[in-house]
Amino acid sequence: MSTSASSTSSALTFDITPRVDPVTEAEREVILSDPGFGNYFTDHMVAIDWSTDEGWHGARVQPYGPLLLDPAASVLHYGQEIFEGVKAYRHADGSVWTFRPEQNGERLQRSAYRLALPELPVDMFVESLRQVVQIDEAWVPSAPETSLYLRPFMIANESFLGVRPSQRVAYYVIASPAGAYFQGGVTDVSIWLSTQYSRAGRGGTGAAKCGGNYAASLLPQREAYENGCAQVLFLDSENGNRIEELGGMNVFLVKSDGTLVTPEINGSILEGVTRDSIITLAKARGIHVEERPVTVDEWRAGVADGSIVEAFACGTAAVVTPIAELKSDEFTLTMPPVEDRVSMSLRQELTDIQYGRIPDVHGWLVRLDAGETTEA
Ligand SMILES: *Cc1c(COP(=O)(O)O)cnc(C)c1O
Repeated sequence: MSTSASSTSSALTFDITPRVDPVTEAEREVILSDPGFGNYFTDHMVAIDWSTDEGWHGARVQPYGPLLLDPAASVLHYGQEIFEGVKAYRHADGSVWTFRPEQNGERLQRSAYRLALPELPVDMFVESLRQVVQIDEAWVPSAPETSLYLRPFMIANESFLGVRPSQRVAYYVIASPAGAYFQGGVTDVSIWLSTQYSRAGRGGTGAAKCGGNYAASLLPQREAYENGCAQVLFLDSENGNRIEELGGMNVFLVKSDGTLVTPEINGSILEGVTRDSIITLAKARGIHVEERPVTVDEWRAGVADGSIVEAFACGTAAVVTPIAELKSDEFTLTMPPVEDRVSMSLRQELTDIQYGRIPDVHGWLVRLDAGETTEA
């Protein structure tokens, strides 16, 4: 491959090989007018290699395209894989920003540790996002509530069928323009309560963002669809009565006195950046936030006696999604109609920060486009 440019981060130099046949501006405009989610990918990707001998090396920006994997690559057999989900947001002045990327970088390190993968330094992680956004900046949409969704991931690619941590690993970042998650306004969702399947157990990989957790959620997810629900709520595997989270989103309840209640980080729940941001914004408003075990019985009793008035899910992709009902084999719990919902007001504040519509008082935004590289 010919290298036509290079760009240096604090620790690594990225060799840059631009694509010779990029998507035309006209084609890209068609895609950006209705990208959906996860359907289209930008012209370039980032790749960094790792081996036990050389550590992190070979950082590069290359044309987006298929990976060449040996059929014996360990990721294909033992699922040694982790990922992240991050968005780049275009502000009204054209600049491009991301939200708390060091949180994702640190979480990728925690996931790596649990999956016996190497830990990518956080500054290299943030630089990898910057590299892909700078070369493909034209792919960041500008319509309201749209973004460029960034998907960093790491795979074990040693050709070896013995069961042990891979001695060769690759890290990539791909980027996909994302439309407004809810077209025509946020809609409430119905959630299926999975009583048969768990997503994570004590000492398992529930707190790591790894593909295997998602693989395990697909069968209950199908059950949810068959029951008219969009997502699955998983319970703890020990007692089977504490709510944990959805397949890819954390969960909150809102009490009639305004208190927010969410399951505490217990080793089997994924520690969402959105979850943490919601807690911070709520506390700044003087809202009391309880992180503690929450049972389905408490939720049902609270709705019955009027002390629990809202439920919502949160994550980077959909931000905040109000839950309309919780269904299971045995019951359907319908949330009451509420005006001026706390969930929607927190959603508004969070997206206003992300899109630069209100001041970033928490210092959460990091600029990614070439205009400037300092923090807000
Ligand atoms: C990614 C993810 C979340 C949400 O995390 P954010 O950082 O808020 O996007 C919640 N639960 C699971 C299982 C996840 O994989």
